[in-house]
Amino acid sequence: MQTPAHAALGDLLSYSGERTLLAGTLVRVPLGKREVLGVVWGSRPMAEEDAALEFKPLGTALDTLAPLGEAWRDLVAFAARYYQRSLGEIALAALPPQLRDLSGVQLARRLKRQGSAPVVDAGAAGPSAAAAATSDEQADALRRIDAEPGPFLLFGSTGSGKTEVYLQAVAALLARSPAAQALVMVPEINLTPQLEARFRARFEGRFGAGAVVSLHSGMTNPQRLASWLAAHAGTARIVLGTRMAVFASMPALALIVVDEEHDPSYKQQEGARYSARDLAVWRGRREGAKVILGSATPSLESWHQSRPPEGDDPGGRYLRLAMPSRIGAGALPAVRLVDMRLQPSKTVLSGVLLDAIGQRIARGEQSMVFLNRRGYAPVLACGDCGWKSECPHCSAFRVFHKIDRTLRCHHCGFTERVPRACPACGNPDIAPVGRGTERLEEHLGELFASVQRPDGSPVRIARIDADSTRKQGALESQLAAVHAGEVDVLVGTQMIAKGHDFRRITLVAAVNPDGALFSSDFRAPERLFSLLMQSAGRAGRDAAYLAAQGTTAEMWIQTQHTDHPLFIALRRHDYPAFAESELAQRRAAGMPPFAFQALLRADARTQEAAQAFLNAASAAADALEGAQQVARYPAVPLAIQRVANVERAQMLVESASRAALQRLLAQWQPVLHGLRRTPEGKGVIRWLVDVDPQQI
Ligand code: ADP
Ligand code: ZN
Ligand code: ZN
Repeated sequence: MQTPAHAALGDLLSYSGERTLLAGTLVRVPLGKREVLGVVWGSRPMAEEDAALEFKPLGTALDTLAPLGEAWRDLVAFAARYYQRSLGEIALAALPPQLRDLSGVQLARRLKRQGSAPVVDAGAAGPSAAAAATSDEQADALRRIDAEPGPFLLFGSTGSGKTEVYLQAVAALLARSPAAQALVMVPEINLTPQLEARFRARFEGRFGAGAVVSLHSGMTNPQRLASWLAAHAGTARIVLGTRMAVFASMPALALIVVDEEHDPSYKQQEGARYSARDLAVWRGRREGAKVILGSATPSLESWHQSRPPEGDDPGGRYLRLAMPSRIGAGALPAVRLVDMRLQPSKTVLSGVLLDAIGQRIARGEQSMVFLNRRGYAPVLACGDCGWKSECPHCSAFRVFHKIDRTLRCHHCGFTERVPRACPACGNPDIAPVGRGTERLEEHLGELFASVQRPDGSPVRIARIDADSTRKQGALESQLAAVHAGEVDVLVGTQMIAKGHDFRRITLVAAVNPDGALFSSDFRAPERLFSLLMQSAGRAGRDAAYLAAQGTTAEMWIQTQHTDHPLFIALRRHDYPAFAESELAQRRAAGMPPFAFQALLRADARTQEAAQAFLNAASAAADALEGAQQVARYPAVPLAIQRVANVERAQMLVESASRAALQRLLAQWQPVLHGLRRTPEGKGVIRWLVDVDPQQI
C-alpha cells in the first residue's frame, strides 16, 4: 500500500485490514500522527510470519469510488521509475487535492452529482456547431490518423487548421465508440478557455453538458475534483487540460492530443520533473490510445522521431503528417531583418520599424512589439561609484519596476522601494540601464505622443506581461481590449506570442532577440526559432481583413546578426531547414536527440559543499554496473548560481543509450540517499535528479 508522503523510491507501506481491497482502491491510512490519502497497490492474506510484525490498521476505504485502473497505476509507476521519484509523490501530484479531505459519503454525493449531469447518447441530437468542411490536407491527415496506429506528429503551420483536425479526430472517435474518452492537452492555462469554448460548441449539443471538462492548476479545488470525478467515472468524454491532465484517470481513454507539443511548459520544472508530452506517448502505447502531437515548430526530438525511412535508416517511430497551407489566413508574413549594427548606438527602435508601425496606425491596423524582459529596466546603476541593484540574496540584479518604484528580484522575490540616492555613495543620480517591457511601453508612448489615429484621437499603447496580468481576470480583459480594436500597439513578453487569434494585427516586431543566439543552453536557438515563428503567426491571421485593408502582414526583427542561419531559415518560414541544420550540429556534438541526459543538482550553503556532493556522487557511480556507458561531466555552478542565499551546482550525466542511462540512475538513487549521511553530503540542503532536462 502506498501513501503519498514523500519518501524514498519504492516506498510501499503495509497495513492490516479486515477485508481484501482491490488494487487501485483509494484509502485513508495513518502515517505518524496524521491520516493521509493512499492508493492500494496490492494486497494479500496475512501469512504466519506476519504475526510478529505489527501492522497499523488501515483507515477508511473510499470504495464508493471505482478503484484506479491498472493502466493508471502503470503510468504512475512508470513515471516514478523513469523520473526517479517516489510512487507516492507522483500519485499525490496526479490526484486532486480534495480527495484528501472528503469522506467516502461526501465523495459518493459529488460523484452522483457528476453522474446525473444530463448525458445524452451519441445520435440524440442537440444543436452543435458544425464542423468545417475539411481542406484536402486536413482530410488526408484525418484519413491517416484513422488508418494507422501512430503516434502522429501533425506538422502544420500556424492557422493551418490543426485544431480543426483535433476536433474532427475526436468527433470520429466518439461517433465510433459510445464510451470512448479523449484527452486534449495545451501548454498554458491561458489557452484553455479558448479551446474549451471550441470543444463545448462542437460537442455539448450532441453529448450533453458535462461531456467536456477542463483540468488545470488555475481551477479551484472543488472544480478540479468535479472534473477529475467526471473523467474517472467516464461521464466526461473529453478532458482538456495542461500538463497535469496527463495523469487524469480515464478508464476509456482512446485518443490523446498534445497541442504545441514543442512547448517547454510540458516539462514540469519543480518537484517531480516529468514531461507530460513524453508520458502522453507512453500512456498512449500502454492503453492502445492514439496519440497526436501537433506543432508548427516541433521539438527536435519529435521531428527526429518522425523522420521518414531512408537508406539503412528505418526512420522514426512517429508518423509525420504535414499541413503546410494556412486556411483563411493571408500568406505568412514577410520577415524583415533590421541590421542594428547600422543604427546609431543605443537605438532601441529603429527608424524604419517606427515608420512601419506609424503607417499601420494611420490605417487603423494593430501592431505587436515584443521583448522578453519584463519590468522597466533590468538594472539600476550609479554612474559615480559603479553600484548596481544586485539582489543581496541571489547572484542576479534586481529589476527596476517604475510603476510602483520598486526593485524586485525575479528569482527570490526580494522587493524594496527604490532608494532616493545611491546606497553606496549618496549620488542622487542613479539611472536605469537596459530596457524591459514597461520602459518600452513608455518609450513608444513618447514617440507616438504627437501622432494621431485616423479619427484624430491619440494613439493607444498597451502592455501585457506577467506584471500587467497579476490580478484575476486581468489577462482576459486586456486580451478583450486588443480583440475589440481598443489598442493600436501592444507591447509584451512571449505571453502574447502564443496561440491568440488576433484578427487585426498586421505587424509583429521582435525588438532584441539576439541573446538566445549565444546562450550556453544548447536548446536556446530552438526555443527562439519557435517563438519567432509563433509570433509571426500572430500577424495577418485574417486574409479577408488584409485584402480589405489592401495591406500585407510583416514580421520585423532587430538584430546584430542578419546573416545568422536561424534568421535566414525564419525569413523563408522554413522550419525543416532550421531543424536539419540544428540536428546536424546536435549529431556532430553528440547531443539530444542523439544522446540522453540527466542532471544531478545539489543545493547547499556554499558552492564548495554543493560541488563536493556532486563529485562524491560521481566517484561513487564509477563502481555501478554499466557506469562506463554513461559520461559524467564536471560539477558546475548553475547560470544563476545563488538564489535566496542557496548555492546551486549541477552535473550533467549523458549516454548514447537511454536504457544505460536509466540503469545507472536507478542504481545511483540509493547511493545518493546514502551519501547524504557522509561528510560530503552533510552540507547539502537538497538534491534532485532531472531526467531529460529542458534547461541546461
Ligand atoms: P491552427 O490550430 O493550426 O493554428 P486552427 O484550427 O485554429 O489552426 O484554424 C485557424 C482558423 O481557420 C480558425 O479560425 C478555423 O476555424 C479556421 N479553419 C480551420 N479549418 C478550416 C476549414 N477546413 N475550412 C474553413 N476554415 C477553417
Ligand atoms: Zn554610487
Ligand atoms: Zn533574489
